[in-house]
Amino acid sequence: MKDLLIVGAGPSGLAAAIAAEQADLDYEVLEKGVLVNSIFHFPRAMTFFTTPELLEIGGLPFVTPYEKPTQWEALRYYRRVADTFRLKIRLGCAVRALERADDAFAVGVEAGGQRDVLRSRNVAICTGYYDHPNRLGIPGEDRPHVFHYYDEPHAYYRQDVVVVGGKNSAAIAALELCRAGARVTLVHRRAALGDSIKYWIRPDIENRLKDGAVRGLFESQLVEIGPRSVVVDGPGGRAEHPASAVFLLTGYHPDASLLSGAGVAIDPQTLKPRHDPETLETNVPGLFVAGSVAAGSETSRIFIETGRFHGEAIVKTVASRR
Ligand SMILES: Cc1cc2nc3c(=O)[nH]c(=O)nc-3n(C[C@H](O)[C@H](O)[C@H](O)COP(=O)(O)OP(=O)(O)OC[C@H]3O[C@@H](n4cnc5c(N)ncnc54)[C@H](O)[C@@H]3O)c2cc1C
Repeated sequence: MKDLLIVGAGPSGLAAAIAAEQADLDYEVLEKGVLVNSIFHFPRAMTFFTTPELLEIGGLPFVTPYEKPTQWEALRYYRRVADTFRLKIRLGCAVRALERADDAFAVGVEAGGQRDVLRSRNVAICTGYYDHPNRLGIPGEDRPHVFHYYDEPHAYYRQDVVVVGGKNSAAIAALELCRAGARVTLVHRRAALGDSIKYWIRPDIENRLKDGAVRGLFESQLVEIGPRSVVVDGPGGRAEHPASAVFLLTGYHPDASLLSGAGVAIDPQTLKPRHDPETLETNVPGLFVAGSVAAGSETSRIFIETGRFHGEAIVKTVASRR
């Protein structure tokens, strides 16, 4: 039986693993995809908003000549972290079920089509939010040219592209697509772009909207997506706009099902798991949350910058009870 099973090999799961390694706990990280799977699926050409030292875990320096690192550099850095600290990580192993069983947890896993049940005295859920986009729930949302993730712009050269959203991801995608020769329409349900847009992105997108390089439809909502067009409800009524690709960049939310299945109280409004903010322990003793999942659907409240400290707090409690 393990002391600690850590679910998710994102920055917060890796930080928890470093602390567990250093406290000499019997632990393992279970990761359904590749190492730092969410970051691996970020847009290829992205740069982080954060300076490198704020993405560091375990005190290992993140060395880059740039003020803000690229996705490629972050992937290399976290591989380096896993090797330097010799972290025990099972990649391609998804946690499907979690139950409190007597004095321990039964953790149902699936890897390579095989199912198994692992046992651990403590479990830390570090599963983030990036796998679960906020869906609009409109007809046509599942068409093959509709995406909840943006990757790169070249494929959309000389095409009509609709981007939905009003925060950083939508603004960055609209700018990149427009510069790669796509005809971009940005649709946002509010009257203005979100307050959280970074100070160096805001003037760029506002000026592109002003000069018409990106067409903006504000106080507007998509109501249907057809094979070559979208229907938008706006202040002027309902209108159809051409669209050979549609990016719905309207945010993401965590999956609370593992936690709720194990008895953790989840706030129905915010999807926040009930937990002690100091120890990160939930209302189920021995079950912890770390990183973005602790913030529920308020995903902009916990970043790598802050979630990277959760693991140490968790391991402190686990080690003190050993
Ligand atoms: C485009 C973009 C840019 C960003 N830029 C920044 C930035 O500049 N600075 C910053 O601080 N933050 C940034 N963020 C936010 C940051 O990426 C997240 O806060 C961070 O990744 C959260 O880390 P985490 O370890 O909690 O979760 P994640 O990094 O999402 O890791 C969760 C891991 O859990 C795994 N997992 C999920 N479910 C299971 C399961 N059932 N079984 C096994 N494994 C599972 C996933 O595959 C994943 O690897 C950005 C986010 C986006 C989308």
